[in-house]
Amino acid sequence: MNKRERKKFEKLLLEMREKKLEYINVLRELAISRTQREASGDISAFTSHPADISTESYEREKVASLITRETQILKELDAALERIRDATYGECDTCGGDIPPARLQARPFATLCVKCQTEAEEG
Ligand SMILES: [Zn+2]
Repeated sequence: MNKRERKKFEKLLLEMREKKLEYINVLRELAISRTQREASGDISAFTSHPADISTESYEREKVASLITRETQILKELDAALERIRDATYGECDTCGGDIPPARLQARPFATLCVKCQTEAEEG
């Protein structure tokens, strides 16, 4: 991958990273506000029904798992930016071949070419 292409993907990765960070912050605030509401006892006003309690805890789990997932993607974005700095971006981790730009466009933090990814998923 040439320098110009790397720059293009760097920009794309930085933009994605920015958006992820914002999204994670929103999720964190959501998680905190829920916890505070529960701690202050306000929750009892909302959850007179057992069904409401399970909805509440289901939503809390959903937010928690979203935070975990988004944080993982953020790490992958950071790793991809690292590869851009090392000039190894766009190379397959397994076979060392080029990852097609179309694939990187769709998944800028991809570390494997399609063939190796498929093999890795099939185990
Ligand atoms: Zn490969």
